[in-house]
Amino acid sequence: MGSAAQKMCKLDVKELLKILNQAYAEEWLAYYQYWIGSQIIAGPMRPLVQDEFMEHAKEELGHAQLLADRIIQLGGTPLLAPSEWLQKAHCGYEVPRDESTMALLKQNLDSERCAIARYQQICEFCFGKDYETFNISLKIMHDELEHEQDWEDFIRDLKDGARFYKEKI
Ligand code: FE
Ligand code: FE
Ligand code: MG
Repeated sequence: MGSAAQKMCKLDVKELLKILNQAYAEEWLAYYQYWIGSQIIAGPMRPLVQDEFMEHAKEELGHAQLLADRIIQLGGTPLLAPSEWLQKAHCGYEVPRDESTMALLKQNLDSERCAIARYQQICEFCFGKDYETFNISLKIMHDELEHEQDWEDFIRDLKDGARFYKEKI
């Protein structure tokens, strides 16, 4: 717990901790969604997407770490049980029932868009009132924007590839 951290924060710390724990839950779910996706994926560009899924998984875990650090600094406790992740998360977990490349890409694209909205919300909540949480959220949002673009690019390439083969065959 950081006493100065709490004094500096000109927000309702309880409300802020609630939101940070929601984001924390979402990061763990995002981590698992990528991790399990990279295990089961089947279809075009599998090795490339697999690597990118694992890389994103690592980054989502890094986000969970940043959030846990900040929650503790503000005197809170990161959610202690995985069963709470699904209860608290607003960006839900998308069960990858369809293991095809395109289906997984679309699920993860949706999840990234939800994550972007989440960090935009936290940035707006903290703007001018809690510089440190603002800064952390901005950093995470930067990564989520990159993640979104990765999937948009992959989806575009996959569609282009499908069109190309249709013309050739
Ligand atoms: Fe994340
Ligand atoms: Fe992400
Ligand atoms: Mg990436």
